[in-house]
Amino acid sequence: MGSKAPLIVVSGPSGVGKSTVVAEVLRRRPDVWLSVSVTTRDPRPGETNGVEYFFASDREFDQLIATQGLLEWAQFAGNRYGTPRSAVNEHRDRGQPVLLEIEVQGARQVRQAVPDATLIFIAPPTFEELESRLVDRGTEDRAARSARLQAAQSEMAAAQEFDHIIINADVQDCVRALIDSAGLSRAS
Ligand code: 5GP
Repeated sequence: MGSKAPLIVVSGPSGVGKSTVVAEVLRRRPDVWLSVSVTTRDPRPGETNGVEYFFASDREFDQLIATQGLLEWAQFAGNRYGTPRSAVNEHRDRGQPVLLEIEVQGARQVRQAVPDATLIFIAPPTFEELESRLVDRGTEDRAARSARLQAAQSEMAAAQEFDHIIINADVQDCVRALIDSAGLSRAS
């Protein structure tokens, strides 16, 4: 019957607060497994290989693509990001719900590859709010920030393709809405 555990995709523009929301979802639902992506971007201070990401060279990333090792991958603001396929399958097969925190192009590929995945888009209350959150976060220089804000424009236009759109005005409200939308509110 192929009864795999749910696959939940969370997308939304850079700076919308996805990581904060996802961390709180995991705190409330420790049975959910968050996929660790591979990226070619440099680690930020405090990031550890294998925890936030697997940090890879361009060559290693090419190799993963060539060997069908990625469920999806995309170029984002000058770097590549991808979801390792086998870990996602293993956790779902074991009955553990899997959550992916990825950008929009990747979410579209998951939609194709896994039609029963639930796609959730987190939107900022306004574009100005997004801009000021990115500035406050201070993890990017001006050029990187402007690349992310440019990507955010087209990401916002894709929101309608998702199963659910949640506006992140308040983190706890957003977390509750995400858990409900993902079908995780019932005991499982
Ligand atoms: P950051 O560099 O801020 O960690 O991530 C930049 C963007 O890449 C975010 O929107 C994040 O959700 C997305 N991202 C992270 N991992 C993946 C992945 O495996 N695949 C795709 N398509 N996007 C990812």
